[in-house]
Amino acid sequence: MDIVLDHKELIKYPFLKESQQLARRHVESLEEFLSSAPGSVALKRAKDRVIAALAKKREFLDENTQSLKPELEIASYALARVLVSCSGNRSLIERLARYEAERASFFLETEDPEIQRFVAWSIGISAGATTMPVTDYVELVPHMRDPRWRLVNRDVHQGTVHLEPGEIDELIRERIRVILIDQMPLRVPAGICERLEPIIQEISARYQQQTLEQFGEIQEEAFPPCISALIQAISTGANLTHMGRFAMTSFLHTIGMSITGITEIFARAPDFDLEKTMYQVEHISGGGGTGYTPPSCPTMRTLGLCVNRNKDCERVNHPLNYYRLQKTKKRKQG
Ligand code: SF4
Repeated sequence: MDIVLDHKELIKYPFLKESQQLARRHVESLEEFLSSAPGSVALKRAKDRVIAALAKKREFLDENTQSLKPELEIASYALARVLVSCSGNRSLIERLARYEAERASFFLETEDPEIQRFVAWSIGISAGATTMPVTDYVELVPHMRDPRWRLVNRDVHQGTVHLEPGEIDELIRERIRVILIDQMPLRVPAGICERLEPIIQEISARYQQQTLEQFGEIQEEAFPPCISALIQAISTGANLTHMGRFAMTSFLHTIGMSITGITEIFARAPDFDLEKTMYQVEHISGGGGTGYTPPSCPTMRTLGLCVNRNKDCERVNHPLNYYRLQKTKKRKQG
């Protein structure tokens, strides 16, 4: 497609090849760039970008977008991806990909139709389309939660899926998210990650704090049946598989239980070994960092850990969502 985007447009869509080329003209070596004054400015903006991705409410028309030089704004996008990649935290990667996709989609909404078409074409979608080939559609929608996206709920005719007005915009957003997720984690040299460690720590602390606030006080009665079953199994001395221990520990850690608290649960086992348990729990919990995310329901099913399912399980696809749902229910019941 024969369109040239100006710099102000490129900063809205930093994932485009043209945007990357602009940033690359100013950044030859990442090491040197990080040591330079413009590099510090871009790094600070990159940190703000990741922190904005953690926020519940998204704001896209910020001062920074207006005041930074376009090449630095785009470099900050690249550095934000470096930061989350170095963190090794899948949730941070997912949050950033979602944020960038929503940001681009926000700008696209009010964009000139020619630019809309160009951006959509760059990611392999036809803007304004009212149908999509089934093969493209099924590749794109697996992570879209609303049941209306399921193929069985769609109007399919001669190998194409009919799209309602506005749905193509949602699919464009999803396509951007999927592209970004597929590209991360980036392979970042260890020396760069070490250099960025203080900022990564700051971001990880923010993420941890936000997670704890989100889950609030721990309520064992709100635990999903799979996690309760694991705790029950431990208490009766059953031997848990490694994945069983992993699922339980990562779940308890994510909802804010301290390492001591988790160890106390393991201490209910008749053959409890303090040293070994502390080592495993600290490893899974990330030693005070962000740690691992517990497995989703489909993964729990594959591992044979989805047990005692109940009616509320049908409404969730992650044990953490089950826990959130129960806490909300209990709060509403007073
Ligand atoms: S459906 Fe999910 S929350 Fe419910 S028991 Fe299975 S894994 Fe746990």
